Amino acid sequence: MRRPRAGGGWKAIAYSFGKARQAGGLLRLYRALRSKNTCKTCALGMGGQAGGMRNELGRFPEVCKKSIQAMAADMQGRIRDRFFDDFSLEQLAGFSSRELEASGRLVEPVVAGPLDGHYRSIGWDEALDHIAAKLGKTKPDDTFFYFSGRSSNEAGFLYQLFARMYGTNNVNNCSYYCHQPSGVALTSVTGSGTATVTLEDLDQCDMVFLIGANPGSNHPRLMRTLVELRRRGGKIVVINPLREIGLERFKVPSDARSLLFGSRIADVYVQPHIGGDIALLAALAKAIVERDACDEPFLRDHTDGWDAFRSFIDGLSWSELLERSGVPRETIDRVADLYAASGKTIFCWAMGITHHRHGVANVQMIANLALTRGMCGRPHRGLLPLRGHSNVQGMGSMGVAPKLKPVVAERLAKTFDIKLPKGDGLDTLGSIQRAHEGGIRSALCVGGNLFGSNHDAAFASKAMSKIDLVVYLSTTLNTGHTRGRGRETIILPVLARDEDPQATTQESMFNYVRLSDGGEPRHELRHGGGPRSETAVIVDLAERLLGDKLSSLRDHREIRRAIAAVIPGYEKIGAIDDTRQEFQIAGRTFHEPRFATDNGRAKFHVVAVPEHDGLRDRQLHLMTVRSEGQFNTVVYEEHDVYRGQERRDVIMMHADDITRLGLVVNQAVTVRSDVGELSNILVRETAVRPGNAVMYYPEANAIIPSEADPQSGTPSFKRTLITVEAGNGRSSRTSAGSPRRTNGE
Ligand code: SF4
Repeated sequence: MRRPRAGGGWKAIAYSFGKARQAGGLLRLYRALRSKNTCKTCALGMGGQAGGMRNELGRFPEVCKKSIQAMAADMQGRIRDRFFDDFSLEQLAGFSSRELEASGRLVEPVVAGPLDGHYRSIGWDEALDHIAAKLGKTKPDDTFFYFSGRSSNEAGFLYQLFARMYGTNNVNNCSYYCHQPSGVALTSVTGSGTATVTLEDLDQCDMVFLIGANPGSNHPRLMRTLVELRRRGGKIVVINPLREIGLERFKVPSDARSLLFGSRIADVYVQPHIGGDIALLAALAKAIVERDACDEPFLRDHTDGWDAFRSFIDGLSWSELLERSGVPRETIDRVADLYAASGKTIFCWAMGITHHRHGVANVQMIANLALTRGMCGRPHRGLLPLRGHSNVQGMGSMGVAPKLKPVVAERLAKTFDIKLPKGDGLDTLGSIQRAHEGGIRSALCVGGNLFGSNHDAAFASKAMSKIDLVVYLSTTLNTGHTRGRGRETIILPVLARDEDPQATTQESMFNYVRLSDGGEPRHELRHGGGPRSETAVIVDLAERLLGDKLSSLRDHREIRRAIAAVIPGYEKIGAIDDTRQEFQIAGRTFHEPRFATDNGRAKFHVVAVPEHDGLRDRQLHLMTVRSEGQFNTVVYEEHDVYRGQERRDVIMMHADDITRLGLVVNQAVTVRSDVGELSNILVRETAVRPGNAVMYYPEANAIIPSEADPQSGTPSFKRTLITVEAGNGRSSRTSAGSPRRTNGE
């Protein structure tokens, strides 16, 4: 499969038409996308009360392949009758993520117990009675509650409240495996864990750093903003060990000039070692100091820790920074010159920065570089973590976390007249580890794919299998249902956002809260069957366990009133049903240099500069990536157009490494790490920095060890030491070509 010369373009348009056919026609898909609901996919945020395909500035049409993929998946038909009779649990465990997703919408609760070879139907009442009975018999701290960023603020708030009234703080969400380091680091710098800028700031800045992110695949509508930035003379610096075609050249489908001729994206494309970001950012800070380009009045009046940071930078030698970053001095000087000349810079990053054992330090170092030139706390300058799921940030805001902010805890206890459980709960990694130790008896997972998003798939599978009862609230099947099962597993089918009978809200990465109207369920069944809204399911369970304490929250307006009373910055949500006014969350956007810290000043952090470990013999550093035909753990397409790959069981490496290891393109190899191996993997060449290799997430999670950032608990998916050996090894591939682990999954 040939790699294209630009991302986006006609292929993206043709793909959209293809998806429209799958979704029952272009008009049907268009109507669905235009409904007054927030885009279901990334947290850039489109839709809401301004109508679908509009961004936060009201611009139209803003739609991308990602949103179309998700909508088409929700619009697919119901899973066929007898599907679960025809395929045993063992057979389903061999299905790929794409095959499971494409099996159809789940419409009835199903259960599989320890003696079952198949999932079988179970009535809603029987399922809920059974779950409530199990929870009633379980010590609350032997249960964990997991939530994905797909759900609404209303469901998230209700869920964490239910868990805490039940008696545990073991409440967590998918961000613990993605942007938690951003939240921890930003809180330590500005006092708030989210972006300091709005979308409008991006439209007015004159420079963007794009670090460890690939928006061409994961946040496609950001590309138009980047194209427009360059058209008005702005600069873009990309930092990524892997050259991504969409970050070099992109054809924005909704922009005729860009579509016809393509648009250059990166002014400078920097390829550091994987894990060399702190050294690179420190080198840039050093170069800024040497150019006398620091914003001294800002540093003096609005920051703490500058002197210590300056001494730290002065004490670092150029030779160690160049060696540890892997970036030549000329490139650093070029980027430093651009940055020194910029008046309004925004720093964007994603999981290339957070998925490291020093993820928090990575983000703190980005903030250090921004503060050095006063690029935070003023209009059109700031810090922007590029969040993944459409409401993942809202989950954090709603308290779907093992530790509540003191003000939220106090207000929650007062509003509901309850005593909250004491102590910190388990985060996502902690929950899996406790399950592996045999200390979890039941788990409730709303959305997402907890199993699939874990490092070390065998460990995660084993952990889940030790839980007595695992309950999933899902719209379609995923690998969690097949390979992340408990002794007993119940899958409850739920409605998508645009099918909810009541309005819901979502929070974008720019701290903007949108109101979704909901809509008609697509798969109603007679006799009370069919998918239900997540909030209805939670209240149904709560009524069985806690009496009527949460019954009034069946009404989303009541939940929104409670959110207004409990969550700082969310006060306007209480009246949103009357005003229909979407809003910017108060206290999070910093256009003035008054931060939310104890003394209003932003904080510098001195962080360790990681060494670059040399590679021996057949070793490489492995990073995992997502494809443009994928959203988180959901794989919509086996091929990856932008990287020119027609399949996912590949290892991409630099031509020099292919030669060094005595391999040839398309040769089958075995890839080993400390925790396992993957066999029958095909060698492919790509423009990654030599010494590094690239494989697809989540399949490669099977060989990612459990090493995590100690400050955030986020696993280090982006830097695993591997060896690559010629030969097929012992394992086989699934029918869809997904690699399978060989040692005991
Ligand atoms: S960029 Fe993100 S929010 Fe915008 S349409 Fe695409 S998936 Fe939806």
